[in-house]
Order: sequence, then C-alpha cells, then structure tokens
Amino acid sequence: MASCFRCIECNEKATELHRDYSNGILKITLCGSCQKPVDKYIEYDPVIILIDAVLCKTQAFRHILFNTSWDIHWKLCVFCLLCEAYLRWSLRHSSESSDDPADIIRYTKEWEFYGMVTLAALELLAFCGGVLFVLRAAVMSSSYGGGDVDLNLLLRALLLSCYGKVLLVPAVIWEHDFLPLCLGFIKVFVLTSNMQAVRVILNCSKSLALCSVCVGLLSETLAARTCQTVAAAFH
Ligand SMILES: [Zn+2]
Repeated sequence: MASCFRCIECNEKATELHRDYSNGILKITLCGSCQKPVDKYIEYDPVIILIDAVLCKTQAFRHILFNTSWDIHWKLCVFCLLCEAYLRWSLRHSSESSDDPADIIRYTKEWEFYGMVTLAALELLAFCGGVLFVLRAAVMSSSYGGGDVDLNLLLRALLLSCYGKVLLVPAVIWEHDFLPLCLGFIKVFVLTSNMQAVRVILNCSKSLALCSVCVGLLSETLAARTCQTVAAAFH
C-alpha cells in the first residue's frame, strides 16, 4: 500500500486506513480533521467505486489515486492506445468493409495500424506534456502555493483517468449514425476525468485544472497536425 494515505473527504494526510486489533477486529480509522472515516471505500465493492469514479466523484478519485497501489496505468495506457488506433484504422477502412470474418484480424498484419498506434502515442505524449508543463509552471509561480508537484503521481493520475477511451471500441463495433456524437461524448468524458484527476492530485482550483487540460488538448492537436503534415510530405 502507499506509504501516505489521504482522507477522501477533506484531503488531510493519514497514516492508516484501518486498524487491525489482535483479536481479529478491524476498525476503520477516523480522520483527525473532519472526524469522518478516512476511506469508506475500503469496505465497498469495486463496482460501486467504479460507478462513483465514472460519476467523477472527488472521493472516489482520492481513494483510487492516493489510497490504492494500482499500478495498471501503463497497461491501461497501451490498451487505450490500441483502442484509439483501432478506431482510426476502422474509420479509414469503413468504406472498404467486407463481410469476410478473416478480414477482422487483417489489421494485425498492417503496418498502417502500428503507424496509428505510434501516432496515438505521440498525441498522448503531447497531451500529458502540455498538462504537466502548465501544472509545473503554476506550482512554481507565486500565484499557486501548492508546494512541489509529484510528476510521477500526476502522470499516473492522467493515464488512469484516460480509462474512458476503452469505450471507443464498442462505439465503433456497434456501428450507428450517432458515432460522431458518441466519439464527442467519450472525448468530453475523458477530458473531464483528466481534469478531476488533476484537481484531486494537486487539490487545486477547477480553473487551473481546466486550463492545464485545455493546453494539453492544444498541444495534442498541434502534434496531430504536425504528424499529418510530415506524413503528407512523404507521400
Ligand atoms: Zn478528513
């Protein structure tokens, strides 16, 4: 478990989430600041925690980011990149779709697909770079007195909060007329989760989180445009 926990209600630091009495009795620790349980989610089912995280509840984000040692962010990141590459690949090839079942696995042989994974990775790198740059600059400046910023913790939070990208695959597989709308909703959902993750890690204002995510988005768009220009120059 993490060495330093946080109260999910008031963000105060805590040394333990529960106390284990020798006679087999476990008792949830109460926060010294707000007198509420430090982390009520340790008793909850993971599905409830996930639902609260989908609803962008601050408490659920604090539980996941501070009080768990989930280190699935890199695996999740690779999976999300594959989902995004599949979306782009499938949109490009939707006009030449075939009913042949063997066609479904054709993409594994195509270099184009791996090129799209690389492109998605570069865009994600640009996004995270933009967000971290703004937050680092804000923390360093005198306008925000939040102390030093833990870049590893922030990067983990950003990658974990991109989990909404997994929805891209069902959105593409269940083809329908509202696909652009669905993709828009997924993008907004992922950005909202990113914002909430930034807010929880830094305990900062909504405006700073929004500003950092907007700069990240701008940086991502610029990276995508640059890649398109470079690709066009080679064709
Ligand atoms: Zn508290």
